[in-house]
Amino acid sequence: MEKQNPSGGCLCGKVRYQLLAPAKVVEHCHCSQCRRAHGALYASGGLFNTPDVKIMAGKNNLTRYESSAGNWREFCTTCGCHLFMTVDQFPDEIYVWVASLDEGAHPGHPADKDMHVFTDSKAAWETLPPGNHFETLPPDSGIGKN
Ligand SMILES: [Zn+2]
Ligand SMILES: [Zn+2]
Repeated sequence: MEKQNPSGGCLCGKVRYQLLAPAKVVEHCHCSQCRRAHGALYASGGLFNTPDVKIMAGKNNLTRYESSAGNWREFCTTCGCHLFMTVDQFPDEIYVWVASLDEGAHPGHPADKDMHVFTDSKAAWETLPPGNHFETLPPDSGIGKN
């Protein structure tokens, strides 16, 4: 039996995607922009090579917002669910907000590539979950480094 690619999508279901490879890294980002974009204490971004993320439905229903120079956050125009982030400087890679995977599926990244980043920007009342913590971005991981 063929193994199915993990799939995910937005809250209303108009935008659907499939992952053709495991995430290289997952960064749980506590920065103020991710907190505001997601309305949550942190957002979990899985890093993929762009061709490994296949948008199956709703590509035209995505809106992009440039939250800082060259950083584009893409979300469903109908329900506002954030799904992707791209960085102009690194056009071959894409972040998927992997909590949007169906059934809460694991994005496939190795355990040592799971990290909490920008912890120095976390909300004052947040108690960090256990794991690898970095005050900003780890020097040897993340976008453009894999
Ligand atoms: Zn939607
Ligand atoms: Zn962030």
